[in-house]
Amino acid sequence: MLIDTHCHLDFADFEEELDDIVSRAHQAGVKQMVTISTRVRKLEKLLAITEKYPSVFCSVGTHPNNADEELDIQTEDLVRLANEHEKVVAIGEAGLDYFYDTQKPENQKTGLLRHIAAARETRLPLVIHSRSADEDMAAILTAETGKGAFPFILHCFSAGPALARTGVDLGGYISFSGILTFPKSEELRAIAKTVPLDRLLVETDAPYLAPKRWRGKRNEPSYVVNTAEVLAETLGVNYAEMARITTENAFRLFSKMPKV
Ligand SMILES: [Zn+2]
Repeated sequence: MLIDTHCHLDFADFEEELDDIVSRAHQAGVKQMVTISTRVRKLEKLLAITEKYPSVFCSVGTHPNNADEELDIQTEDLVRLANEHEKVVAIGEAGLDYFYDTQKPENQKTGLLRHIAAARETRLPLVIHSRSADEDMAAILTAETGKGAFPFILHCFSAGPALARTGVDLGGYISFSGILTFPKSEELRAIAKTVPLDRLLVETDAPYLAPKRWRGKRNEPSYVVNTAEVLAETLGVNYAEMARITTENAFRLFSKMPKV
């Protein structure tokens, strides 16, 4: 079995098709999914999805590309929402995105620090989005961990080796998406080999970034199988073992999510 630790089932791409998408995931062995929040103000839609599908869980947070519009969301709001709802199993996604650079960097940083404080308080894992921001992210994670540890994931990892190393050294997890499967992702596969087995996760980030076998198509949770296959091959571990390891890691990290 596998767990898709990061997808966006509330996006319009999946409208009216969720029954099929969730059942295709189950058939492919993807038994649980975490649909990730990008706006706290849209949490209700995520909660409705998690209520309809017992195998779907969610997070609560503000994506860095929405940082300006949710600058009023405080740590205590995140903590309250996480504690109020049984199916909220993570904080985020929050972070820094200097690639798109649509939101003020200081607002992205303010949001990230509030999400870190919420993860520290709730002990729920922080889902971190980091793009073209390796140095700032490493500095913030190092400084903040120094004030008190918090569980975290560097999601859809596509950064450089230094940030991977910092993340692992600070106790974090590294999650690989379909990017790992792309022919040109040799550097990323080299980084994957340096991550301890007990810190590896797989995800789709659906509807984005379909892995190689379905490249160019809309991504969906069942496709996480292809990423796990490539991760297994890269590490020289058989597929069943890779599935077992990443699932065990996901249950350890997303400790609020009941095991199936
Ligand atoms: Zn995402």
